Amino acid sequence: MLSDRKMYSILNRHQKKSGFKLLPVVIIGNGPSGICLSYLLSGYTPYFKRESLHPHPILQKKLEEAPDVSILDQDLEYLSEGLEGRSHSPVSLLFDTLLRPDTDFGGTAESVLTWWHETDRAIPHLVLGRNPPGGAWHSIEGSMVTLSRGEWMGLPDLQFKDWLRQKKRGLRNNRATAEDIAQYYQHYVMKKGLQKNFRCGTVVTSVRKVSAEGISNHMQEDLQKSDSLWNFTEEGMEVFQVDGFVKTVQGDKEPFSIYAENVVLATGTYDSPTWLGVKGENLSYVHHQLSALEEAVKNNSIGITSDPVLIVGAGLTAADAILFAHHCNIPVIHVFRRRVSDPGLIFNQLPKMMYPEYHKVHQMMKEQSAACAGPYECYISLPEHRVLSFGKDKKCIFQDKNGYQKAYKISMALVLTGSNPNLSFLPNNGIYLAMDSDQPVNPKRNPIDVDPFTYECTQEKGLYALGPLAGDNFVRFVQGGALAAASSLLKKANKNPP
Ligand SMILES: Cc1cc2nc3c(=O)[nH]c(=O)nc-3n(C[C@H](O)[C@H](O)[C@H](O)COP(=O)(O)OP(=O)(O)OC[C@H]3O[C@@H](n4cnc5c(N)ncnc54)[C@H](O)[C@@H]3O)c2cc1C
Repeated sequence: MLSDRKMYSILNRHQKKSGFKLLPVVIIGNGPSGICLSYLLSGYTPYFKRESLHPHPILQKKLEEAPDVSILDQDLEYLSEGLEGRSHSPVSLLFDTLLRPDTDFGGTAESVLTWWHETDRAIPHLVLGRNPPGGAWHSIEGSMVTLSRGEWMGLPDLQFKDWLRQKKRGLRNNRATAEDIAQYYQHYVMKKGLQKNFRCGTVVTSVRKVSAEGISNHMQEDLQKSDSLWNFTEEGMEVFQVDGFVKTVQGDKEPFSIYAENVVLATGTYDSPTWLGVKGENLSYVHHQLSALEEAVKNNSIGITSDPVLIVGAGLTAADAILFAHHCNIPVIHVFRRRVSDPGLIFNQLPKMMYPEYHKVHQMMKEQSAACAGPYECYISLPEHRVLSFGKDKKCIFQDKNGYQKAYKISMALVLTGSNPNLSFLPNNGIYLAMDSDQPVNPKRNPIDVDPFTYECTQEKGLYALGPLAGDNFVRFVQGGALAAASSLLKKANKNPP
């Protein structure tokens, strides 16, 4: 077994160099939420640009009241009061409208913020993440086009469209590819000089609160000598112990253990695809990620003459899989539980003009059922069906709403019915943090309960949650959570000017 000191040393190099033994902030997750927070904690400070005019007259008036005070130091509740939009979070609406003032009206007005790099306000922190900076965008199929408009995928003070222009690339119908988004986030981290705080290839396996007294003697000494931003000698003080491993280039897993005064959960929801829970789902031809289809096509394990691919689900990822298979002329059987006209189906909520490809999938779902052949080759839609089992012989049994069963021989199955956050590194999977603390955390139905103006968990001081975990499901809105958390952490660190 590794000694405490060795385990502790791996991620500590940074801490030792900068004189910090206990980190003020550790961010888990390096997607847009983690990147945006890292930017704000690195001393990048937003102020109202004096000459600018925000289209919301009341907000404009409030912004004019204190142009010398950074937005991070202002009362976010006061500034965001009365704002309306497509998010339930007042601070998300505030930050979004400061960055993209008239975007919901189709406008392209410039941000009313100006950014100053005030290094004395920086808070030392680390961002731990499994993938390169960009989070889920490195796992999403690269050619997939975003649902959101391209400019809504951008982070503060580096417009996505400017980066695209520089790369001599363009948007598709105002939308971007996942590959471009992932590259832009990586570029953002480099351009803003944040990479020194990022530890990629790092997986967190445990976060526990421990008492300072409980930490081994050498650690305590370190803690007392550290430049901790909070008074650590305080009796009964608790800190977070963050454990995990770093994947080395040789593929080994090197364990680490670090201590932090605050931990920010920014782990998103993409890592644990939902399972149907049926017999045979663990067979090797049953997959839960779209990338499996891409790989199978690439290595020619399926093609035009194969048995059909089964796609289960009626969300956008399932639709992306259908489009991909259709593009490669691979036959598809599409099974989903809802009616095609169900208003809850995402296709019935998207404007046709903006999303012609999803509209096409919806049409296929409507017109090409097993009962009536339609104009689309190589595709069969089975609405109001569910999978009963997957057989070893690649025979799959379905059941319709009347209880009738059918068997189909398939080449591979893709179960694309959504994904859940994986908070297995927290006690009891973090259930105690959720709005309904008897149910698992779910971004839509049961997010983590946070203070709307700080994003600190109401059930656990010092722990913050951002992004889908806190109910902010779109990149343009996860940034407000980062603003709220940064503002709260700056207040705790007493780094606000008097
Ligand atoms: C298919 C798809 C399409 C989407 N389209 C859009 C769109 O068009 N517009 C839009 O605004 N949003 C879209 N989203 C949602 C968007 O991806 C999220 O809102 C956004 O990425 C959330 O950012 P985040 O930083 O909170 O989390 P993520 O981007 O999910 O990043 C979290 C990172 O943390 C890592 N992580 C998790 N657990 C650990 C751990 N224990 N240790 C270390 N690292 C860990 C994960 O691997 C991941 O890389 C889409 C999502 C999907 C899945």
